[in-house]
Amino acid sequence: MDFEFNEEQKMFREAVKDFASREVAPLVDEAEANESCPAELFTKMGKLGYLCPGYPAEYGGGGLGESGTCIMVEELARVCSGITSGLMVQSGLATYPILSHGSEEQKQRFLVPAVNGDKIAAYGLTEPNAGSDAAAIETSAKRDGDYYIINGSKIYITNGTICDFVTLAVSTDKSQGSRGISTIVVEKGTTGFSASKISKLGHHSADTAELVFEDCWVPATNLIGEEGRGYKYMLESLNSARISHAARSLGLAQAAYEASLEYAKERTQFGQPIGQFQTIAFKLANMATEIEAARWLIYRVAWLYDQGDECRKEAPMAKVFASDLAIRLAEEAMRIHAGAGYMAESRVHRYFRDAILYHTTEGTTEIQNLIISRELGL
Ligand SMILES: Cc1cc2nc3c(=O)[nH]c(=O)nc-3n(C[C@H](O)[C@H](O)[C@H](O)COP(=O)(O)OP(=O)(O)OC[C@H]3O[C@@H](n4cnc5c(N)ncnc54)[C@H](O)[C@@H]3O)c2cc1C
Repeated sequence: MDFEFNEEQKMFREAVKDFASREVAPLVDEAEANESCPAELFTKMGKLGYLCPGYPAEYGGGGLGESGTCIMVEELARVCSGITSGLMVQSGLATYPILSHGSEEQKQRFLVPAVNGDKIAAYGLTEPNAGSDAAAIETSAKRDGDYYIINGSKIYITNGTICDFVTLAVSTDKSQGSRGISTIVVEKGTTGFSASKISKLGHHSADTAELVFEDCWVPATNLIGEEGRGYKYMLESLNSARISHAARSLGLAQAAYEASLEYAKERTQFGQPIGQFQTIAFKLANMATEIEAARWLIYRVAWLYDQGDECRKEAPMAKVFASDLAIRLAEEAMRIHAGAGYMAESRVHRYFRDAILYHTTEGTTEIQNLIISRELGL
C-alpha cells in the first residue's frame, strides 16, 4: 500500500493552490455580488493547463486522471465553490462525452478549445419535468436531412448564459425511453437557442440558466457517438463527475474548518479564546478528523477509477459522504462564528449557503443511496 501523492501530484496541488489564492480569491466577492462567473478564469486556467487536468495530453489535458481533477477541484473549492462549479462542468460533464465518444473532428472542434479555455462549455440534461428521472426528458431532436431540429427547454444549467456550446441530452425517439436519448452539441448563436439567467440561494458566482430551444436547426455532424446511446454516455459522465463533486465538498469543508480554527483562536469571550472551551475545541477536533477520513476515501476512489475500476458503488459513496460532511461542517462553522457568521459579508455564511446544494447536483443524495443499495444487491 502507498498512501502518498506522487511528486507530480504534489507539484500540481501546490501550483493550483497558489493560482487559487492569487487569481481566484480576489475575484470572489465581485463575482458573488454580480451573480456571475468570471469568464477570464477559463482562459487563464486553460493556458496553464489547469482546466482539464484529468484529460490526455494529446488533447491539451494534464494526463493526471481523476486524481488530478480532484486535486484541482478541491483546491479551487477551498476558495470558492460557486466559481469551481462552472470550471468543473468544463472539466467533466460537458466535455467527457466528447472525449469518450466524439469523433476526432469533434474533439478538435469542441474538446480542444474547451481544454485550452478558448471555449466555455455547459451540460444540459435537467428539464422542468425531468430531474432525477433523467430518462423522462422531453426536449426532442427530429432528424431532417443533414440537421436535427431541436425543441424543448432545460433548467438549472451551469454556465448556461456564458457558454460557447452546450452538450445536450435530447430525445431522438421518445418511444424508446432511455434508449431513445442522444447527445448533441449546440453552439451559441444557433438560431432558436436562447439562455436566461436564474437567481438562487447560494453559488452566486456560478452562472445558472434556463435554456430554450425553438425550432433550433443543428448540423447532424454535431451528434456525439451513436443515436440512442446518450443515456449511457450520461451515466458514464455522471459517475466520474461524482468523484470530483466529492472533492468539491471536501474543499468547502476544509475552508469551513480553517475559518473556524482561525476564529476560535482570535475570538475572546469570558477572558479567553473560545477555542479554549472544550465544546469548541472538540468541534474542531471532530472537523479535522472527519476531513481526514473524507480525503482518503475520495482519493482512494479517484485512484481506483484511474486504475480502470468503474467505481459504480464507490463514486456515489464518496459523493454522499463528502456532501453530508460539507453541509455538517458548514453548519458547525456557523455555530462557532455565531452572530459574526450569520452576517452577509462573512465567508462562512457563503459556505453555509453553498454547501446545501451538494445534496442536489450530480444526482441527489437519495438517488446516490438508491444506486449504492442496488450495487449492494437490494
Ligand atoms: C445550482 C444548480 C446547478 C445545476 N447544474 C446543472 C447542470 O449544469 N446541468 C444539468 O443538466 N442539471 C443541473 N442541475 C440540476 C440537478 O442535477 C437537478 O436539480 C438534480 O438532478 C435533481 O433534480 P430535481 O431538482 O428536478 O429534483 P427531483 O428529481 O424532482 O427530486 C425531488 C426530491 O425527490 C427525491 N427523489 C426523486 N426521485 C426519487 C427516487 N426514485 N427515490 C427516492 N427519492 C427520489 C430527490 O432525491 C429529491 O429529494 C443543477 C441544479 C442546481 C440547483
